[in-house]
Amino acid sequence: PDATVTGPVVVDSRQAGPGSLFVALGGERADGHDFAGAAVAAGAAAVLGSRPVEAPQLLADGGDDGVVAALGRLGRAVADGVTAAGADIVGVTGSSGKTTTKDLLAQVLGGLGPVVAPAGSFNNEIGHPLTVLRADEGTRFVVLEKAARGIGHIAHLCTIAPPRIGVVLNVGSAHMGEFGGREAIAQAKGELVEALPAADEGGVAVLNADDDAVRAMASRTAARVVTYGRGADADVRARDVELDGAGRARFTLEMNGGSAPVRLAVVGEHQVHNALAVAAVAAEFGMDAAAAAEALAQAGPLSRWRMEVDELDDGTTVVNDAYNANPESMAAALRTLGAIAERRRSFAVLGAMAELGGEARGAHEEAGRLAASLGVDGLIVVGQEAAPIADGAAGTAGWHGEAVAVPDAAGAVEALRTRLRPKDVVLVKGSRVAGLEKVAEKVAEGLTASGKDAQ
Ligand code: ADP
Repeated sequence: PDATVTGPVVVDSRQAGPGSLFVALGGERADGHDFAGAAVAAGAAAVLGSRPVEAPQLLADGGDDGVVAALGRLGRAVADGVTAAGADIVGVTGSSGKTTTKDLLAQVLGGLGPVVAPAGSFNNEIGHPLTVLRADEGTRFVVLEKAARGIGHIAHLCTIAPPRIGVVLNVGSAHMGEFGGREAIAQAKGELVEALPAADEGGVAVLNADDDAVRAMASRTAARVVTYGRGADADVRARDVELDGAGRARFTLEMNGGSAPVRLAVVGEHQVHNALAVAAVAAEFGMDAAAAAEALAQAGPLSRWRMEVDELDDGTTVVNDAYNANPESMAAALRTLGAIAERRRSFAVLGAMAELGGEARGAHEEAGRLAASLGVDGLIVVGQEAAPIADGAAGTAGWHGEAVAVPDAAGAVEALRTRLRPKDVVLVKGSRVAGLEKVAEKVAEGLTASGKDAQ
C-alpha cells in the first residue's frame, strides 16, 4: 500500500512516532523485524527491512547490508536536497576529538542558523544517514563526524553525505591494531579531503598545521586549504595559551587579520586545537575573531564522559574522561589533571588504552612516566593490560607517589575509598571496555564522605 513518511527515520522502534520510517536491522541480541509491529502501532508509516513484515514496506535485498545501503541512498537523496536548498555539510575526522569538535562546531554554527548534528558518536554508515535524514529545507548546516575503521570507510561515508568543508584534527601516533601504522591511519583520514569539491566549487579543507601527517594532506585535495595551529604560520592561530586552575584554556585567537581573547568553556589544553578548528570553519561562514571567541566561550561539552568535570560539595574535583583512551588523549587528560590539581592532591584512575597492538606496553609505560613527571600523587591502574602504567611511573626518578594495581572498576572504587580526601582531584580515564565511568559516578556519589568516616 501507499504510505507517506513524514516523521523521523528511526532504528529503535521505541523512538517511532506518527509518520516515522522504521529501519529494521538485525541487532546483536534482537532482530529489528520483530519490532516492526510495535513501530507501526506507535504510528510508523512504513518499514525498511530485508524480510517481509506486515506493514507498508521498502524491502531491501542482501540482509542488513542491503538495508544499510538503502538507508545510505535515502540519506544521500536528502543530503542533495538540503544542499541544493542552501545547506552546507561539514565533516570532521581525526583520531581524537571528533565528537568534542563536532559538538563545539554545532554550538558555534548554531549562532548563524539551524544546525543538524548527531548526538554523541553517531559517526558510521548508519548514524550518517539517520542524521542527514533529520535535515530539511530550514537546515543551514549539517555537521557530521566521520570515523574510520579502515581504508575506504571515510570515502564511503562521504558518498552518503558529501561535505563541502572537511576538518582533519589529528592522526594518532599509535600503531592501531586494525590499521597497522600511522601512515595507514593518515591514508584513511585523508579520504575526507580527497572527497571535497575543488576550490572553485567552494571546497575547503581545514587542516591542523601542528600535526605533520595532517598538514601533508594539503597535497591530497583540490579544495582550498585553511590551516590552524599554535605556530605563527597557520591561518587561524592561538597565541599565549594558558590553562587556568579549572583546566580551561585561555588564549588569543588570531584569524583573518583580527584577534580576540578566548576562554574556553571545555576543559583541557587539547581543546585549543579543537577550538581553532571550529574557529576556522566559523570564519568560512563570515565570523570574525571576536564573534568566534564569544561563541566558543559559550560552547560547553554536549557528549558524556569526555572531560566531564564535577565539583563535589566537599571540594573534590572529578574529571570523568572514561569514554575512550589512546596515547594522545591520555597525555592530554593527564596534563589537564596536573593543571587543575596544582597544589591539591591528585589521583589518576587509569584503564588500558585498547587496540595498540605491539605498541601497547611502551605506550602504557609512557603514560605512567608522564603521570609521574606531572607529580600525580596516586595512580590506580585498572586491569592487566594497563599494568605497565605503574611500571613506567615507578621507574621515574623523583616520583614520590603511590601506584596501586586493581583488577576492575570495583577495585578502583575500593582503592579510592581509603585514599581520597576532600579537595582532592581525581581523573578517571580508560578505553570504553574498562567501564571506568562507574568509578567517576561512585566518587561523585560521595565516596569521599565515607572515606572520611573511615579515617
Ligand atoms: P573521538 O570522537 O574522536 O573519539 P572525543 O571527542 O570523543 O573523540 O574524545 C575522545 C577523547 O579524546 C577524550 O578523552 C577527549 O578528552 C580526548 N580529546 C579530545 N580532543 C582531543 C585532541 N585534539 N587531542 C587529544 N585528545 C583529545
